[in-house]
Amino acid sequence: MGEFELIRRFFQRAPSADAGAGSNAVVLGIGDDCALLQPSPGHQLAVSSDMLVVGRHFFPDVDPEALGHKALAVNLSDLAAMGARPLGFTLALALPHADEDWLAALARGLFALADAHACPLVGGDTTRGPLNICITVFGEVRPGQALRRDAAQVGDELYLSGRTGEARLALEHVRRTAWAAEAKGADLRARLDRPTPRNALGMLLAGAGARAAIDVSDGLAGDLGHVLRASRVGAEIPLATLPLAPALEFLPTAHGLECLLAGGDDYELLFTAPPDARSAIEAASAASQTPVTRIGRIVAGTGLRLLDAKGNTVRFHARGFDHFA
Ligand code: ADP
Ligand code: MG
Repeated sequence: MGEFELIRRFFQRAPSADAGAGSNAVVLGIGDDCALLQPSPGHQLAVSSDMLVVGRHFFPDVDPEALGHKALAVNLSDLAAMGARPLGFTLALALPHADEDWLAALARGLFALADAHACPLVGGDTTRGPLNICITVFGEVRPGQALRRDAAQVGDELYLSGRTGEARLALEHVRRTAWAAEAKGADLRARLDRPTPRNALGMLLAGAGARAAIDVSDGLAGDLGHVLRASRVGAEIPLATLPLAPALEFLPTAHGLECLLAGGDDYELLFTAPPDARSAIEAASAASQTPVTRIGRIVAGTGLRLLDAKGNTVRFHARGFDHFA
């Protein structure tokens, strides 16, 4: 199977199949030198890339269907955090060899999520090399409506979709134990391998009055730090308000905090909104069927202050993940 045969078989779908994806932005898809996208009149393009590298972001024996899902999910999550509507994506793929079953499974995971988000594959590149998958997503957003990291204001309330920590716990299990023996950990494992990007919520947030947002990929505390620095504000989070997954309830305090605040791979949305937006945020949560918890507030100053039940500061030093630190 040559390069072009591979692209045709696994990634180029009949126009009728792609129509199911429902995107009307694609003027020209796979097959020419460039794809042509037509955003809605008056909208801005939102563009983001994320690369997954074998040995760094996933294990060599990864389930290819889960890999296809995750590679697109982490990119869709960036559009969600901007409040942008997905238009399409490109796929750059380096493969050590062309294994047909493996490619078919990768494509299944990829297209299932793409179709669910009306986000068609419009192009890419395919080469031989160490396994590496890089996706670029394109989305659209109305001018002034993007949820930027520098838009948080003192007095805003701080919200989190879903809950953090489970993906980190799953990773610890994978590293330390034979996962097959941990049947009850299957749900936890799904939080690591098949994250749910929060696009339906993200697209409703700007209209609901939200100001700043980020998706939690490198740990809640570290990612919140990016918002606080960009917005030149501080934040307070009473620890008791953080939603706690059942799997985390029995962890010793320090370990639990590490998972909750520094876990990574959560792909939840962390966002701010003024107090008068509360009911609109609740409505957005209900409409998108995405749980949202008010976890704290934005204050004057710098940095994150964690509070215990008595209002005293809890010491916790979380650093977000940094590939070169
Ligand atoms: P070029 O040499 O002009 O860059 P290529 O030969 O790399 O074009 O690719 C041929 C067509 O197939 C292009 O439209 C490209 O976008 C598409 N393509 C290549 N690899 C992929 C892939 N992994 N997924 C989707 N489309 C791809
Ligand atoms: Mg090319």
